[in-house]
Amino acid sequence: MDLNYSAEDEQFRDTVRAFLDAKLPDDLRHKVLNHLRLSKEDFLRWHRIVHEQGWVGASWPKEYGGTGWSAVQQHIFAEECAAAGAPIIQPFGISMVGPVIMAFGNEQQKARHLPRILSGEDWWCQGYSEPGAGSDLASLKTRAERQGDHYIVNGQKTWTTLGQHANLMFCLVRTDPDAPKQRGISFLLIDMNTPGITVRPIIMVDGEHEVNEVFLEDVKVPVENLVGEENKGWTYAKYLLGHERTSIAAVGRSKRELAYLKRLAMSRHQNGRPLLENPLFAARVAQIEIDLMALELMALEVLSSDADDKNTGPDASILKIKGTDIQMGLTELMVDAVGPYAAPSDLAYLEGEREHSIFFDDDAAPLAGQYFNYRKTAIYGGSTEIQKNILSRIALGL
Ligand SMILES: Cc1cc2nc3c(=O)[nH]c(=O)nc-3n(C[C@H](O)[C@H](O)[C@H](O)COP(=O)(O)OP(=O)(O)OC[C@H]3O[C@@H](n4cnc5c(N)ncnc54)[C@H](O)[C@@H]3O)c2cc1C
Repeated sequence: MDLNYSAEDEQFRDTVRAFLDAKLPDDLRHKVLNHLRLSKEDFLRWHRIVHEQGWVGASWPKEYGGTGWSAVQQHIFAEECAAAGAPIIQPFGISMVGPVIMAFGNEQQKARHLPRILSGEDWWCQGYSEPGAGSDLASLKTRAERQGDHYIVNGQKTWTTLGQHANLMFCLVRTDPDAPKQRGISFLLIDMNTPGITVRPIIMVDGEHEVNEVFLEDVKVPVENLVGEENKGWTYAKYLLGHERTSIAAVGRSKRELAYLKRLAMSRHQNGRPLLENPLFAARVAQIEIDLMALELMALEVLSSDADDKNTGPDASILKIKGTDIQMGLTELMVDAVGPYAAPSDLAYLEGEREHSIFFDDDAAPLAGQYFNYRKTAIYGGSTEIQKNILSRIALGL
């Protein structure tokens, strides 16, 4: 397979570019391209613009208000948005709970939630992990006991990404403690404003408030918020995880960051020559570029395939491992390119409270934080070690 797109696809690309040129606000583009932090309102502003265009449900079928685009068109859209510096559309609604509701939800749930996911009215968060249940997710202990027309939920979730912004959480809960562990789990939709829910920040190593702990104490959840059947939640949970893994490959973002790295390495000098002309550094950049091209080819091949297991099989694991290795590798090369200038952390600049960094230069200021932050990619969505276990079992038969 090569990367020759059809004339129709190239025309589609032009349409996307024209939209981005006309509609992507300069301040958002500036923040994304310069590794500055985005607020909830920044994300929502872009979400609403894309929604107005009818393109938020890029991967959704038309019957639910999606675009009905082909896999290649979805790839082109993601690639162009990333290249232009558009904020990401948060995945929790569009790529995670949305597809689960479409596949397993009832008509009322579809009618209520899908339009609100598209419009950005609801901000969802993912309540899967717990202090004792990450890689071994099926060990989760958060308990939901049926009492009349409600469940009473007690337990703790952790690492809840952007839970501080969310008004809804899709949550895995144990409804049958006596069943074998995968069989006693259910998939509940929980209003974050229900009494008994406490969200506490976990501050990441780069100083960012990106993840949270969520405590649930006697939280009353109406039974109509159960998705699918009671105790069948593990099936729905796995369906969602496959969607999460394939999108984590982030090819478009890595292409943009590779271009940034090259510009950075051209602007730094060593012995009077641009760093990018240093053979050792250039070889490292070339290697990551080759890996990225291979990843893109594979991502396109997987997206275009009709295989039933394309989101959950070995391909999804390979995309997750390679995609996140590349993302981490790029942040490492950027830090190496600027050396000690990457070290200071200027939070006020990153948060947009100051126009320029008080340290040496704006390009270098976010890089150390970004390097540390991106170690997360090898952990979330199923860690690299777990993906390798899956590969050794399914692909190698070990
Ligand atoms: C930034 C960030 C955001 C996240 N966002 C969310 C979110 O929004 N919602 C949510 O529910 N969860 C979220 N997670 C949680 C994430 O899914 C878990 O962290 C992940 O599944 C790993 O679980 P754990 O942290 O409990 O580590 P553990 O499972 O305790 O693993 C610790 C280490 O042991 C290794 N290990 C574990 N088991 C094995 C094995 N069998 N073989 C080999 N090695 C093994 C792991 O690879 C890892 O290196 C997020 C995590 C991070 C870091």
